[in-house]
Amino acid sequence: MAELDRNFIWDFIEDDLQNNPGMKVHTRFPPEPNGYLHIGHCKALCVDFGTARKFGGVCNLRMDDTNPAKEDTEYVDAIMEDIRWLGFDWDDRFFYGSDYFEKDYELAVGLIKKGLAYVCELTAEQFRDPKYCGDLTHPAVSPWRDRPIAESLDLFERMKNGEFPEGKYTLRAKIDLASGNFCMRDPVIYRIKYVEHHRQGTKWCIFPMYDFAHPIQDALENITHSLCSLEYEIHRPLYNWVRDNVDLPGNPVGFPRQIEFARLNITYTVLSKRFLRGLVEGGVVDGWDDPRMPTLCGLRRRGYTASSILDFIGRTGVAKSDSLVDIRQLEACLRDELNATAPRRIAVLKPVKVIVDTYPAGKTEYFEVSNNPQDPEAGTRKVAFTRELWIDEDDFAEVPPPKFFRMRPDGEVRLMGAYIVKCNEIVKNADGSVKEIHCTADLETGNGMPADGRKIKGTIHWLSAENCADVTMHLYNNLTTLENPSAKPDDKDYTDFINPESKIVVEHAKVEPALADAKVGEQFQFVRTGYFCRDTKYPNTFNRIVTLKDSFK
Ligand code: ATP
Ligand code: MG
Repeated sequence: MAELDRNFIWDFIEDDLQNNPGMKVHTRFPPEPNGYLHIGHCKALCVDFGTARKFGGVCNLRMDDTNPAKEDTEYVDAIMEDIRWLGFDWDDRFFYGSDYFEKDYELAVGLIKKGLAYVCELTAEQFRDPKYCGDLTHPAVSPWRDRPIAESLDLFERMKNGEFPEGKYTLRAKIDLASGNFCMRDPVIYRIKYVEHHRQGTKWCIFPMYDFAHPIQDALENITHSLCSLEYEIHRPLYNWVRDNVDLPGNPVGFPRQIEFARLNITYTVLSKRFLRGLVEGGVVDGWDDPRMPTLCGLRRRGYTASSILDFIGRTGVAKSDSLVDIRQLEACLRDELNATAPRRIAVLKPVKVIVDTYPAGKTEYFEVSNNPQDPEAGTRKVAFTRELWIDEDDFAEVPPPKFFRMRPDGEVRLMGAYIVKCNEIVKNADGSVKEIHCTADLETGNGMPADGRKIKGTIHWLSAENCADVTMHLYNNLTTLENPSAKPDDKDYTDFINPESKIVVEHAKVEPALADAKVGEQFQFVRTGYFCRDTKYPNTFNRIVTLKDSFK
């Protein structure tokens, strides 16, 4: 499995281990089960699990289901499947953030008792009002800050008991209304919400905020290093405040420690579960595993291997500031892998009939072709040759442009691994399209080599018309047309940038007959065409995973 390179997180941890001999590194991956994992999560997985492994520690899998909205066991199951597919293992350390609700409540009560939290009555509207929330030069204001402890204790208990409507009260940490960091201006740590929780049912109608729940979850699980993406940097003082002020003894001073790293951003790719869920619910794609989706299940269905994705994450590295990675880097990782491993096969995407007039009807001959020129051990297979063949429309030009050495009137071309043929006559349909191309073959050539040694510049691939299978091909392009997703204009929506050519359906393509039995999860290189694999949803259909060459270069 691809390893991350040395990075600043590891440097920090090495210092921590020096200062705390015997500390066992313990990390966690905390997905919110409100959607499927995408390739951005894969980066977090590599950082969380990879760091634990690097230091001989362990990593927990924790469903961060503190927020009751839109969570589902479907997502929990899918998340576990995707993580296993990547090869990461949490052993028996699987947790739910919601399993700590009782403890969260108890610790919140403890804060109130210490005078470090109070029940506030500001409405949502007032919270946004500069009079109360302040600004850069003015502190925030809460008229309820000095509410007696006993009163807050009573109100908080009654909040829990469901005596008040949503929005009536909140519990706020008493920190610093004048802080330059707005997260520290007496943040709300509990709110009332009458929503059924996917695991807790209706047991709770108050829910802890992420900033309160997360450090507690980490501390309870003896996490030493809480690795998260950069947007949490500004929350770190609050993380530390909660950690240091709730009554949770047993952790070394200063731990768990939060360290932030830059998110993975990829060109033409929107990494947001909310947006991706919108595509699924709006029917823009055919599910979370649509092969155009940047989800792990989408990439898997498309034909990406786990190892190529991990290789990509390793190559992009772990950084302290945001950057944008070219999606072609991901494609290059897959090409590198499949070039070495994928068996070669022949497919003709846009078939045109070729008839070799000089070849006897009813005769079948077999040519031996290599399964992978990069790998002699991959062996060879036999491909049938007959009088009627298919070649690709793009390999023929009635009026050839300069330097076109493929099939053209009166020109010779090599049929890959077989005979050299010459096009003599074009028969057309009523609409002017090519019906069939008549050729003569130089039957002295074997495996494409002319007996007299004359030079043949063009080589094209072909299939016997009697020995092939008819399939559908799905060709994929970038899902959006927005190169830098974070540069989306404010007045536009990501759905305004869906690429209308993100999926092109090609019916009646031809492939070698044995491919009719190709197994799901087997990747092939269709010569001169691209890497393909069988689709899991549509019968008799192949997905183009990636083209053979980077078309932009
Ligand atoms: P989204 O916006 O897609 O919902 P999220 O951050 O809300 O992403 P979570 O389920 O909360 O999703 O994420 C679990 C972990 O994955 C978090 O630690 C988060 O920082 C990390 N993560 C999410 N997206 C990325 C990304 N693009 N690059 C690196 N880490 C990411
Ligand atoms: Mg989140």
